[in-house]
Parts: sequence; C-alpha cells; structure tokens
Amino acid sequence: MSENGLPLCRSLEDHVPLFRGNPGSCEELPGFLSFEGLGWRAAIELSSRRSGTRNARPRQLAGHGSVSPTAPRAILVRMDINARNIATHAADAPATAEPTPVVGRFAPSPSGRMHLGNVFSCLCSWLSARSQGGGIVLRIEDLDDRCKRPELAAQLIDDLAWLGLEWDEGPYYQHDRLDLYERALHQLQDAGLTYPCFCTRAELHAASAPHASDGTPIYRGACRGLSAEEVARRSILRAPATRLRVPVVDDLADDVIEFVDRTYGAQCEALATECGDFLVRRSDGVFAYQLAVVVDDAAMGVTEVVRGCDLLGSTPRQIYLQHLLGLPTPHYAHIPLLMSPDGRRLSKRDRDLDLGELRARFGTPETLLGWLAGQMGIAPDATPRTAEQLVEHFSWDVIRAHRENIVMDERTGMQQTAAHPDDHLDSDIAKASTTHLSPEGFDAFCEILDSPTPEATKTLLERKSAWE
Ligand code: GLU
Repeated sequence: MSENGLPLCRSLEDHVPLFRGNPGSCEELPGFLSFEGLGWRAAIELSSRRSGTRNARPRQLAGHGSVSPTAPRAILVRMDINARNIATHAADAPATAEPTPVVGRFAPSPSGRMHLGNVFSCLCSWLSARSQGGGIVLRIEDLDDRCKRPELAAQLIDDLAWLGLEWDEGPYYQHDRLDLYERALHQLQDAGLTYPCFCTRAELHAASAPHASDGTPIYRGACRGLSAEEVARRSILRAPATRLRVPVVDDLADDVIEFVDRTYGAQCEALATECGDFLVRRSDGVFAYQLAVVVDDAAMGVTEVVRGCDLLGSTPRQIYLQHLLGLPTPHYAHIPLLMSPDGRRLSKRDRDLDLGELRARFGTPETLLGWLAGQMGIAPDATPRTAEQLVEHFSWDVIRAHRENIVMDERTGMQQTAAHPDDHLDSDIAKASTTHLSPEGFDAFCEILDSPTPEATKTLLERKSAWE
C-alpha cells in the first residue's frame, strides 16, 4: 500500500505494450484501456463541469498530470469505430527487431525572434534526444504568409547555433515540401474523407463554442452534407477550405483518441464532440499545420515530439491523421509554457524576452542555459553550463515536477503558478473513470495518480474492495 492507502501496483509499463508506431495499429492497453461502455458522455460532462474549461486540452484520463518514473513511452490510440486506415498497404509491415533510434526535432515558425519559452522548448527537445543517444532534425515551419520571412528563419538558425543546440539534419523548409502535403491531402480526398467548407470565420465563431486550446471553434458540420450543385454554386462566390471528417457516432463521443503524454500523463479526446471536422487546407490554399506537421514528422523519422503544452490540444488531431495516413505515431512530451507576469504567454510577436535581449544580457550561451536549467530544476544550480554539460542532469521527472506553467518575472526570476486545475482527482471523476476497468487496469490507473482528494481515495478504495 502507498501512503494514501491506494494499492501499490505494477508500473504502467507492465501493462502497456509499447506503441511501436506500427502503421495503422491500435495497440490496446489491457485493463487500462478497457473503457468499452464507460460512457464517455458522462466522463466528459463530469470533467468539463469540474474544470469549466471543456475544451482547453485533451482530458486527462486520471485527472492528474503525473506519470510514474517508469512512465510508459507509449501512445495509445483507440479508434475502433468508423475510423479507417486508408494506407492499408503499410499496415502489415513487420515490426523491426532493432530499437528505433530516437529522433527529436526543432520545428520553429519564423514569425519573430525566439523568446525564452522557445529556448526552453528547444533545450528540452535537444536534451531528451541527446540523453537517449538520439538525433535532432531542424524544420522551419514557414507555411503561413507571416512566416515567409527568410531573414527571420536565418536569425532562428543563428540563435540555435549560438545556443549550441546543434542539429543533425536540416534545416528543412516547409515551403519546399508542398508536394508532400498535396499528396497526403489527395489520399484523404480519394478516400472520401474530406469536403469543401465555405464557412467564414465570422460564421464559425458565431455558430459554436470556441475550442479553447487553440481558439479554433468546434465545427458543427454546416458544410458536411452539401450537394454537388450547392458546392458548385458556392465555389463561384468563394474558394472553399478543406475539412477532414472525424468519425460521428450516435453516442456522442464514443470514438476517443487516447495517448500518454510524457509530462501531462494519460489524455483523451473525443474528436466528434470536442473538435469536430477540422481543416486540412485553408481557403487561401495554405495547408493546415495539422496536416503538414504529421507528414513532416513521419517523413523525417521523428520518434519524439517535444513542444509547448499549448499544442497538447492538437495532438489528438495529429494522431487521427497519422492513423488515417498509415503513419507512425511519435511519442509526445508537452512542456509547460513560460508566462509573463501579467498572465500572457510569452510571444514572439510581443518580443517578450527575445533572444536578442537575452544574448546581450547573459553574454554567453553557457550563462543563459545554466541559468535557465537552474530555474527549471534541470540542473542543481545556475552554474553556467553548455547544452552538452546539461545532458547528464536532464530527466523527464524534473519536467513533470514543474509541469505547471511558469511565470517569468524578469526581476525575481521564475515562479511557479498555481497547480493545474486538473491536478486533483475528485470523487466523481474517480468513479466515472474506473467503472469499467479490470483489476489490472484499475491498478495501472492508481499507479499514475498524483494527489487524489480524500473522497476520491475513498471511492477508489471502495471499488478496490469490491474485488477482494
Ligand atoms: N511551429 C510551431 C511553433 O513554432 C511548433 C509546431 C510543433 O512543434 O508541432 O510554435
């Protein structure tokens, strides 16, 4: 028994078959994933009632953010209903005997100079890959018009080099890779999974609640069933965007994407109700980030995606696309954001603590990296250190321990904000989340709990005793 009276159990790794990115495969986590008939409607309603941020990010399966030190390096995808893998030719590929080498990536958008948050994200990607003997790919994400600034891309590259975060491949530029995105889009179109959408931004925002993780409204399907004549008629007036259908099920949200994030733990999202059909190409012809990033991560052999937790909410869409296109799913690790004292997250456009200023202030990359690593708990103190010297200090446990967003106060350094609202498991969620678990799944569930409330603990113990 652990201190809070919950059963100590095998680590999740004992339960979780590693998801090897086997194209099209949906690895099941025995017990833990035995959520058949759990009633996601209830779970969703409970979790949204509790947090008040229905769509802020994928829901945490256990209402917590912590994973045991032996955290599973597993991505779980459960999409047994309607979802199709349209790349069946790849689905039978034999599993490789050799462990796949770790490949991380930097994927900056050249919309401005890097800020301290971007440095932290690149540092974590780099340290994670290097600490596993892996490599790094550099990809410049310049699809958007406002990112087509070669001088900003050059500055980003210079800043990464100055920091000593060297990469092994690239830089690749997304604007050079449009044919790859086009091909992937055709695959989806040929499988009948897309449709033209004529909705204006104003219509989208008026018709639905916002998708709080990235501001994208949940799409209610206004253009889903347009006739060919209607499409032709509207196309004369307006170029359509292209949307990808997500599976619709009668029971609200039965089709759930689940994955384990290395920092924020088990996550799930029902695309149908929490996202809706999403864009794969905008009406101005620009490929959507979700499509490009999935195509590129696969083409570049990326096995590990480390990025800010503002993108946690995009991950289910990316996993869905990977599934459809028969592409492997990398491991995901989202990291806390750095915030300004007024509660905004640092942004390139606002030139918050940008690298120009930081380079001038700290003088050397060792001073800056050592200070940052000390502040974030990666290193024991703020001694100047090279990126290479930080490798031995790095561990995901430290990042998990600091997973709340960090307020960056320029005068006093960094301070932790209050705990994430999902950090405490309450009794309702405990009940809803464990109703259909097998004993093994229940044990795995408890293993990853952080700090359940006393009522939640009581609920869990009651459930446990029912088996004994
Ligand atoms: N290009 C994105 C950014 O600079 C990151 C995308 C990703 O890591 O998936 O914020």
